[in-house]
Amino acid sequence: MEQCLLQVALDTPLHTVFDYRWQPATPDEPMPAIGQLVVVPFGRREAVGVVVGHAAQTDLQADKIKDVIAVRHQLPPMSAHWLALCGFAADYYQRPLGEVMLPGLPKNLRALTTVALDKALKALGRLAAPKKSKARRKTRTEAEAIPSAVAELVPPDAPDPLHLGEAPALNPAQQQAVDAIAGAKDFAPLLLYGVTGSGKTEVYLQAAAAILRRAADEAAASQAAPVDPAVAPAQILVLVPEINLTPQLEGNIRARFPHLNVVALHSGLAEGERARNWLAAHLGQAHIVLGTRLAILSSLPALKLIVIDEEHDPSYKQQEGLRYSARDLAVWRAHQLGIPVVLGSATPSLETWHHAQAGRYRRLELRQRAAQQAVLPTVKVIDMERDKPVDGLTAGLIAAVRKRLEQGEQSLLFLNRRGYAPVLACDACGWISNCMRCDAFMVVHRPERRLRCHHCSLELAIPRACPTCGNVDLQPLGRGTQRVEEGLQAIFPGARVLRIDADSTRLKGSAQSAFDSVHRGEVDILVGTQMVAKGHDFKKLTLVGVLNPDTALFSHDYRASERLFAQLMQVAGRAGRAGLSADGSSGEVLIQTRYPHHPLYQAVMRHDYDGFAGELLEERRQAHFPPFMYQALLRAEARELDTALAFLKQAATLLEAPAITINEPIPMTLMRVANVERAQLLVECPSRPALQGFLKQWLAALRQLKTRARWSLEVDPVDI
Ligand code: ADP
Ligand code: ZN
Ligand code: ZN
Repeated sequence: MEQCLLQVALDTPLHTVFDYRWQPATPDEPMPAIGQLVVVPFGRREAVGVVVGHAAQTDLQADKIKDVIAVRHQLPPMSAHWLALCGFAADYYQRPLGEVMLPGLPKNLRALTTVALDKALKALGRLAAPKKSKARRKTRTEAEAIPSAVAELVPPDAPDPLHLGEAPALNPAQQQAVDAIAGAKDFAPLLLYGVTGSGKTEVYLQAAAAILRRAADEAAASQAAPVDPAVAPAQILVLVPEINLTPQLEGNIRARFPHLNVVALHSGLAEGERARNWLAAHLGQAHIVLGTRLAILSSLPALKLIVIDEEHDPSYKQQEGLRYSARDLAVWRAHQLGIPVVLGSATPSLETWHHAQAGRYRRLELRQRAAQQAVLPTVKVIDMERDKPVDGLTAGLIAAVRKRLEQGEQSLLFLNRRGYAPVLACDACGWISNCMRCDAFMVVHRPERRLRCHHCSLELAIPRACPTCGNVDLQPLGRGTQRVEEGLQAIFPGARVLRIDADSTRLKGSAQSAFDSVHRGEVDILVGTQMVAKGHDFKKLTLVGVLNPDTALFSHDYRASERLFAQLMQVAGRAGRAGLSADGSSGEVLIQTRYPHHPLYQAVMRHDYDGFAGELLEERRQAHFPPFMYQALLRAEARELDTALAFLKQAATLLEAPAITINEPIPMTLMRVANVERAQLLVECPSRPALQGFLKQWLAALRQLKTRARWSLEVDPVDI
């Protein structure tokens, strides 16, 4: 075979693909296909890249063009669909193609040696030396039609992989939702708007079952040869917002589909496992892939349904590198494949709600809780001006916790602030624990005896005396979860209090064991941050207390109300999910506030998402905010703010275009972090295509500017 020219995408900040020459190492080496992984020389090192095209000619001089070093023939090439997905993401988020493709692949696949890759393939039954497998095929003529070696590993009397474990009978609303999802013949964006505890998970599972079953039947009917049992007839991708929610859902899925190949994909997996799971998806072996946002970029050749649970959750947005929205990419992917995508939430994002109102997304509603006798909890506010809190807890909340303790039920106290106290202060001279590297306070962590900056991770021992005046009586101001835990333990010495937050769950596996102990009923009072607010189905939990939500009411961030509302509805949704309390009452939610009449709390008390979302959308429409406006944010950072601002000022004058508003560059709210000073420039446009067109030209011009500032562009920013 002759040599050829390949275009290869590499993980570099350069906005281009690279040309390489390939020639067969042996006479029968096949030409690398588009989508294949290759190893190439790059600068002074070697790098793994993805073949994205065959070139007829190159601009490089013949003596400059380098040879491909190796081709990963053992790995089937990435599909055209995956390449298109990455191409779209690169284009839309204005990043180099290689920066989209390669960081999404497990490390073991991007490695320069094939040891780990071969090991993973072997574990999946997909690696046999070419010669050996040929010999084997010959002796097994009846198996010729079976494309994979794995088929040999499956015994003939294997159980039907689609056999369902025990499932509850769906209620009519759930059944309607399942029918709508499974009946979709083409692209169908579906908003599953279901109150907390309405049984959305059950809808996902049964829709998945129906789609898998249909695909299996179709495959059996259309193929003359026996269907390879190791290849999934269809693949389902389920996204959840938090790693900590994967075990609960994985357990549910495995219990329901005991014989299906279910794999998880998230950053908490060990590299070997991540590579195996990713490959199981890529090879079409995995029926169900359950993952966090990064799983949206995985390769799924038989993808037939995407589910995004808690679609409103901010963690679907990646906040560094390729700043993508996994939810938006999911909708694009479903559109491109012509399959249904389900966006599940009790409090949909305003973007999604707006699409549903406009009829672009179909709305499926679950208005009631699913479990027998379970109803939505009663939500009340406690006026902190009347019931003055001691150690952060009002008498009303303490009495409620006591009652739950007596009834043998669990309480959850939610406070979105970890640590012991947000500041350490000296009464004598006014010293406070500022971080020396950031515009932020260092947070007191009492059990660890440290001051920690939550922005730059700087750590110091808690000083014994004031660094300025020597006063030994330093005061922690305000309270975080550690201090609340301490307070509760003092008030209820006999109760089992457990704190769950990022600090208490630093060790691998510790979050899971903490959640397990709550499920087993070994905890009476749970104190936690947003980590415990989402998704969990704690059956004995009947009381939720919310400690300090008021600060978000007055945030300058236009999304703060939407977030606070969603957060309160979510955490409230943890109460009373399994039915009534011992005293026959429903679950109870108590919000401690200084603004009991605030419309946001009033809406939470009425469980009135529709009304509140309607008001917020109207405000956004009038203020020309998203979803009625499209935005991009140019960020710059440097040692000195002036350098960053000067760059942004220059950027602001580079290019003009109709309908594009370029705002004034401003310092970020948290201006200095880790000794770097930061500023931003917001670009707005009522038309998405017009904004995209502008950004493309603008970035090309920006790349020509000389500056000492580091800069990056974010499309559809969420924190501005
Ligand atoms: P959501 O995700 O909507 O908050 P879940 O899917 O966690 O709610 O369901 C809440 C509870 O209701 C779970 O314990 C689940 O087992 C139960 N459940 C779901 N569907 C049904 C049903 N049709 N009949 C009885 N219980 C159900
Ligand atoms: Zn002092
Ligand atoms: Zn800091």
